[in-house]
Order: sequence, then structure tokens, then C-alpha cells
Amino acid sequence: MSNNKNVFDNVLQLIGSTPLIKLNRMTADFKGEYFAKVEAFNPGHSSKDRIALHIIEEAERQGILSPGDTIIETTSGNTGFSIAMVSIIKGYECILAVSSKSSADKIDMLKSMGAKVYVCPAHVNADDPRSYYQVAKRLHDEIKGSIYINQYFNQLNIDAHYNTTGPEIWEQTEGQITHLVACSGTGGTISGIAKYLKEQNPDVKIIGVDAYGSVLKKYHETREFDDKEIYPYRIEGLGKNLIPTATDFDSIDKFVKVTDEESAHTAREISNTEGIFVGYTSGAAMQAVKQLNEEGEFKETDKVVVVFPDHGSRYMSKVYSDKWMQDQGFFDSKNEVHTTIEYI
Ligand code: PMP
Repeated sequence: MSNNKNVFDNVLQLIGSTPLIKLNRMTADFKGEYFAKVEAFNPGHSSKDRIALHIIEEAERQGILSPGDTIIETTSGNTGFSIAMVSIIKGYECILAVSSKSSADKIDMLKSMGAKVYVCPAHVNADDPRSYYQVAKRLHDEIKGSIYINQYFNQLNIDAHYNTTGPEIWEQTEGQITHLVACSGTGGTISGIAKYLKEQNPDVKIIGVDAYGSVLKKYHETREFDDKEIYPYRIEGLGKNLIPTATDFDSIDKFVKVTDEESAHTAREISNTEGIFVGYTSGAAMQAVKQLNEEGEFKETDKVVVVFPDHGSRYMSKVYSDKWMQDQGFFDSKNEVHTTIEYI
């Protein structure tokens, strides 16, 4: 059926072509113009829809997958949800090996999308046969006709964003983009967009956002893996304790590190000033923009695009819970709980 009346054959046709939304309030005093690439407009509410669709369709093109086959990944997050969604429409089994640290809500969400979820102990090393990495690998070896997405080490993760997100941003800014600011987890988003934008204009500055407690920024600067950089942090989906091959470090000009606390407050600020209900890493990306602005990175003529990877509804028990914020010590005297509940 033609989709010129906003009618689609299935939900997968809505993946990509997300809007670029001008930020009007948060950046009012900054030099330059700021736009958010709002990936929550994908049907699975995150940028991971793009990679799930691309990796699965590439396997189909190569004849590796046929209906009824199995798709395996190790994630309780956005990628799991997107793979489950694509699997439903295309008729595949979806198996997700997740850590026992994952919240019950997340596991239920994946199950509602038809995924079979293996909950693996969180406290074991990655090489322990019970770890979610090893369980995923074993299932992949055992199940004939299965593929393992392995997003941190899959070049197709970069290609998905090179083919879609990069060209969309270039066209939406009519080639006037001067800076891209994006979080780096697997690195697929930033590397794919960077590759496309730099081919169009090598002067576009690509800025990655990393977490304190992650090795990415230090590795970018020294090309050495420094395990002293690693410690626990709260933001999910940003930074890493290993070097993913889905990150093209050469295409990134610099990294900025952001804190858990400032990123959480900034996510809330985006929601209640711009009216865009975003996830934790959108707060991290915008926090990086604030820091860059303070460092004098931008000038009046700049056009800055910030990627907002997912939707706020996934963080109701975290960033948008006053109790969680309080438990983390993220509310101080200057920043009190704002909730007012009135009973009539
Ligand atoms: N934000 C969120 C919420 C994510 O789940 C991810 C993916 N890990 C990212 C940002 C980073 O994207 P990428 O993996 O493409 O670097």
C-alpha cells in the first residue's frame, strides 16, 4: 500500500527518518544554533532500531537467515528491544542473554516483545561459562541457523548509521552542520555518522561523549587501554570497560567526559524546558554541549547537532524518580525535590 497517507505495511517501515528538533531554551545564551536528532521517534523508541534492522537484513541478503531462525544478543537494553521487535515482524526467534543486574521491568519489556530471556549471574567474569557472553556464544554454537549480533564488535553497526543517520543529518542541516555531539557506547552511532559527514565536509567536528569510569576518552588520546580508568558508574549505554571495534577512533576529533549527576539533571532539564522526553544519555550528550560551550568551543555561526538516543519512559525508576535521585545523592540544597502532589 502507498504510504503517502502515513499508512505502512508494518512497524519496521517507520525506522529511521527521525526529526531534527531545534533547541530553543537550553541553549538560548550559547553561541550558535543547536538541534537535537531525536531517536526516540523510531518505533522501538531508540537509535538501536536502525542497527537491528540493518544487521538482520544484511544477514538475510547474505542468505544466512531464513524464517524461523534464531537471533541472539547480550543486552537488556535498547538493542535487545529493537532486535525483539524486528524478529517479531520477520518471524525469527529472539534470544537475549542478560545480566541478573537488569531490572525486572526491563526483562518484562523484552518478554512483551516476544524475546526469550536468559538471566545470567552478574557477579561472574566474562570468561565464566555462566556469564551472559559465554551463554550467548554457547547458544549460537548450539542452535543451527542462528546469528549473534555482537554489537560491540560488528562493523554493520557502523554501516547502519553511515547509511541512514549520517545522510539524514546532512540533509536536514542542508550541509551546514559544523559540530556533531554524540554519546559513544559501542561507538556505532558516532562512527557511522562521522564517516558520512567527514566524506561530505572534513571540517565537521565530531565530539564523542564518554562517562567517568570508562576507558574510551583515554584510549582515544593515547591509544592505550588503561584499566585504572575503570570504575562503576550509573549511566547505561555510554562508555565501556573494553575497546569496541565498532568504534572508529580516528573519525572522532575529541571526547568529553560527563558525570552521572550532571547528566541526570540535564536529562530532566531537557524534558521540562524543551518538552522532549529523553533518556539518561541524552542528558549526558547535552551536558557535554554545556561543558563545550563553557570552554568556548562554539561560535555564532555554528550549527551543532546533538544525538538524543532514546526515550525518557525507559528511566521512570531512575532519572525521573525523585527517590532514585535522592538515593544517589543527586539532590542537594540548591536542587531540591520539585514534586508537588495535591489531593483534592
Ligand atoms: N545511549 C543509549 C541509551 C544506548 O543504549 C546506547 C547504546 N549502547 C548509546 C547511547 C550509545 O550508542 P552507540 O552504542 O551507537 O555508541
